[in-house]
Amino acid sequence: MQQVEIDHCLSVAAIGSLLQGLAMIRPKEPCESPSDKERMRKEISIAAEGNAFEKGVTEFGDYTPFTCPECDGVLIRIREGANSRYRCHTGHAYSGTSLLSGIAERIEAGYWSVMRSLEETAMLLDDMSGVLVADEENEIASALRKEASLAKRQSKRILAMALEQGQAATYVAAGANKPKR
Ligand SMILES: [Zn+2]
Repeated sequence: MQQVEIDHCLSVAAIGSLLQGLAMIRPKEPCESPSDKERMRKEISIAAEGNAFEKGVTEFGDYTPFTCPECDGVLIRIREGANSRYRCHTGHAYSGTSLLSGIAERIEAGYWSVMRSLEETAMLLDDMSGVLVADEENEIASALRKEASLAKRQSKRILAMALEQGQAATYVAAGANKPKR
């Protein structure tokens, strides 16, 4: 509902008579221009079959500096009145809010990935240090343990950022589904 203009907001009982009245009104001009219809036809075809590039998605709007959260493709902005939609060259489609939500989820996934790498680093350094202690190479072992605890501290900081980002992503997603009042 955030992406459309609301003409009427009625009780269930009042909808019937309004619809009857609206059905009597003839539109002054066609609702969609031929170019709108052609674009809609192409977009339906892209949604069903893909191949957005071949079907001319780039003619629908302007290139943006944004990339598709699903495939890293370049996003084209399609303006519709006050609203913008985004479509990538492979056919993924977003509203502004769903794009924001997709990017927020991607940031969160990035944090989790960095955290896993830091924990792996700490485990490997601890493991290497253990081997050196067995070989009585205590000075090097101690340096490795220091590196391991640095990686563990960094991992904790990234965890906090991942959790914070997760909350932000949830907030954006909730905003996307919130009915407009
Ligand atoms: Zn895409």
